[in-house]
Amino acid sequence: MERRVVGADRVFDSVYGTMLDGHAVVIEGDRVVEVVHSADVEVTDSLPGYSVLPGLIDVHTHLAIPLDDGQGFAALVQRSGAQDALLGVKQAGETIRAGFTTVRDAGAWRAFTDVALRDAIDAGWVTGPRMAVAGPFVGCPGGGADVTGLAVDVDEVLPRELRFGIVTGADQMAATVRQILRYGADFIKVLATGAVLTAGTRPGAPELSDAELQAAVAAAGEAGTFVAAHAHGTEGIKRAVRAGVRSIEHGSMLDDEAIGLMVDHGTYLVADLYDSEYILENGPRLGYSDEVMDKTRLTADAQREGFGRAVDAGVRIAFGSDAAVFPHGLQGRQFRHYVECGLSRARTIQSATRWAAELMGWQDRVGSLRPGTFADLIAVEGNPLEDITLLENSPLVMKSGEWVVGP
Ligand SMILES: [Zn+2]
Repeated sequence: MERRVVGADRVFDSVYGTMLDGHAVVIEGDRVVEVVHSADVEVTDSLPGYSVLPGLIDVHTHLAIPLDDGQGFAALVQRSGAQDALLGVKQAGETIRAGFTTVRDAGAWRAFTDVALRDAIDAGWVTGPRMAVAGPFVGCPGGGADVTGLAVDVDEVLPRELRFGIVTGADQMAATVRQILRYGADFIKVLATGAVLTAGTRPGAPELSDAELQAAVAAAGEAGTFVAAHAHGTEGIKRAVRAGVRSIEHGSMLDDEAIGLMVDHGTYLVADLYDSEYILENGPRLGYSDEVMDKTRLTADAQREGFGRAVDAGVRIAFGSDAAVFPHGLQGRQFRHYVECGLSRARTIQSATRWAAELMGWQDRVGSLRPGTFADLIAVEGNPLEDITLLENSPLVMKSGEWVVGP
C-alpha cells in the first residue's frame, strides 16, 4: 500500500477546532493513519507555509442542475436528462478542484441524474466529490418542487422524470419517498415552503402539511436515512422541525420559537448566505424577473439576521451553499458570510468539515483527519483561522490519498 506523509506548517483539527503547528498527516492507500509531529516522521509531501485541512464538505449543492439563468423553466425542457448528467461531470470537477471533496447534493430536476453522477464518481470514471444524493425534489403540486408557470396543455404532458417527487397527502408521500430511495437516493429533500426561484410560489408559504412531513420522515427513517427540508417561511420551518427533519435548508425567516425548536430537536441549519449576494449583484444582468429580485431582497436580510440569532442560541450549523444558483466552485465565498454573521472562524471551518459530516452521518469517513477516515484533504497558503477568505479557492486538493490538484 502506498504510504504518503503530508507535512505542513499547520494541520487543522476539525474535532476541536484548533490548528496544530508543525504536524503531518500519515496516509496509507486511501486512508488516514494518523496525524503526528512532523519531526517524528519522514515527510514525503512537504508544504512549507501551508495549512492542511480535511477536505471541505458542502451539504447543499445541485451538481446535476444547470446554472440558474433566471429564465424560469424554459431551459429545463430544452435539455435531456443525459445532458444534465454530463453537465454534472463538469460541475463535479469544478467543485472538487475548489476544495470540496464531499457534497450532499440536494436534488435534481431530472430525476436520478444525480444518482448516475454519484455512481460514476464512485466507480472512478469521473473526477468529483463523494456524493450523497437526494434524487428528485419532493413537494406539492404547483409548489417550489414543481415545474411551474407552464401553459395548461404543456403542463398536462410534462415527462414524469420532471415531476417524480410531486405528491399530495401522507400516503402518496410515504410511497414516493420509498420509491425514490429504492431508485438509489441516499436521503430525501422536501420543499416545505415556496421557493425564491420557482415562479408563482411564495417563500413564506407552507406547502406541506404536518401529516405529509411526518410521513416523509417516517418513511425515510424506516430506510435508515433522513429528510432535509427546504424552508424559508416561519410556519413551514416549525412544521418541518416538529416532524423531525434532520436539517432546515435556507431557514430565511426564523423567529425565536423556531430557533428554540431547532435547538431542542438538534436540527441543523443549512443557510445559503452567498446566494443572495450573487443574485442581487448579477440578477439584473442575467435577466432575473422582478418577482425573483423582490423575493431575494425579502429573504436576504431576514436570513442573515436569523442566522446570527441561531448561532447565538446554539443551533448546529452545517455549511451549504445552494451552488447552481451561482457557478459551482465559487461556494468558498460563503465562508466570509458565515463569519460576518456571527460564527467564529474555527466553527465556520467546522461547519464545512466536522458538522457537515455529522449531519450526513458520514463522520466515520470524512470531515476530519481521524485515523481510518478517507485521506481527503486540502492545503492553503497561510492560516485560515486568521483569514477565512483563504478558503475561497483551495490551491491543493487530495481525495482518497491522491492529489486531484497537487503541489
Ligand atoms: Zn437548493
